[in-house]
Amino acid sequence: MQTVTVLGATGSIGCNTLDVINRHPEKYRVFAISGHSQLELLMEQAQKCAPRYVVIADDANYKLACELASQYGVDAEILAGAKALEEVSSAPEVDAVMAAIVGAAGLLPTLAAVKAGKRVLLANKEALVMSGALFIEAANHSGAQILPIDSEHNAIFQCLPHDYEYGNFTASGIRKILLTGSGGPFRERPLDSFSSIAIDEACTHPNWSMGRKITIDSATMMNKGLEFIEACWLFGASASDIEVVIHPQSIIHSMVQYIDGSVIAQMGNPDMRTPIAYGLAHPERIEAGVTPLDFSDISNFSFQTPCFERYPNLKLAIDACNEGQCATTRVNASNEVAVEAFLAGKIQFCDIAKVNEATLNAMPYVSVNSIAQILEQDSLARAKANEIIRGKFQC
Ligand code: NAD
Ligand code: MG
Repeated sequence: MQTVTVLGATGSIGCNTLDVINRHPEKYRVFAISGHSQLELLMEQAQKCAPRYVVIADDANYKLACELASQYGVDAEILAGAKALEEVSSAPEVDAVMAAIVGAAGLLPTLAAVKAGKRVLLANKEALVMSGALFIEAANHSGAQILPIDSEHNAIFQCLPHDYEYGNFTASGIRKILLTGSGGPFRERPLDSFSSIAIDEACTHPNWSMGRKITIDSATMMNKGLEFIEACWLFGASASDIEVVIHPQSIIHSMVQYIDGSVIAQMGNPDMRTPIAYGLAHPERIEAGVTPLDFSDISNFSFQTPCFERYPNLKLAIDACNEGQCATTRVNASNEVAVEAFLAGKIQFCDIAKVNEATLNAMPYVSVNSIAQILEQDSLARAKANEIIRGKFQC
């Protein structure tokens, strides 16, 4: 029996995680669930999975959450605030933590789980994009096992040899990692019509159902850029070891190419319950409720090289990866601000990359060596991006 904390339980990954857990009551017990908004959904989840703790990210909602808990007949203790998120991630009773808060807000609770030596199911890629070196160092120090939940990284993990030595491509005969992405909803849209992209169009992914922020990031391919950085840290790869390949069908979730000419791919229907189940059960396999892939239904597998003119955010993220931790933290922070501004109707779709570029250009590089310095760069980049939006781009 594994005891699991689910951070970001009300989100797309969180709901899918509870769905897989609910299929295996004999294997998993929920210790804590957390949510930021959608408190009713959080209480419904608590009714069903009976956790010891329900954590509300925002202290201001504590009273409301307690009222809702008694209304829903929830027995769990209600906790609130950032420290509580860290506590339920690092409590001694917990074996595994699903890190599924979206954005930089997930950094500290995810790191708390890493430092406490938990099995960390990492969906919150932004945490690794921001703190990569310190994150990996903390995992090495505590013995935490990091299991990638992002479908691409989960695929790569499955395609690597079982005895893969972190960063040692030569010893395993690996030529490169092929990181696949669908190219999003605007893969074929004429570039001169990008200024008229509506919020709803950008929020509709052709293959995956996900939270709004990652859906926009998929449309700009910033998501692939963040995943590029994520892959470098997870597998000890350098930027030249990774190639991004557009695969519009989202059936192949990524591949590893070997020096003998072999390419090993992991495939499946686009359903996040596959990587979630893999992370929960590793090294075993469990049923995940996913429709099996039917090859008689697949008429076409295609591949393309991404064009940076169409996806400037992808280039910005790869450049940031080459530059280092300060740049990756800033590009992530600026992008969160720009995506929010787009979703609020303040800027156009193509301004997202322009805001990110202007933010990066406006800030001279400094070296970051601690979480405090990372958080400082995160907040400076947010302030700069907001200033740029107010001054230049606001619709
Ligand atoms: P989502 O928006 O659906 O859910 C986010 C969760 O985080 C919710 O529970 C929300 O209440 C919580 N949250 C939001 N702001 C918070 C804050 N300030 N403090 C604490 N909690 C907060 O997002 P999602 O699509 O489930 O994505 C979650 C993470 O997983 C992201 O990092 C995303 O990049 C990654 N991911 C998602 C998918 C997917 O299919 N959805 C795939 C791969 C990776
Ligand atoms: Mg992904």
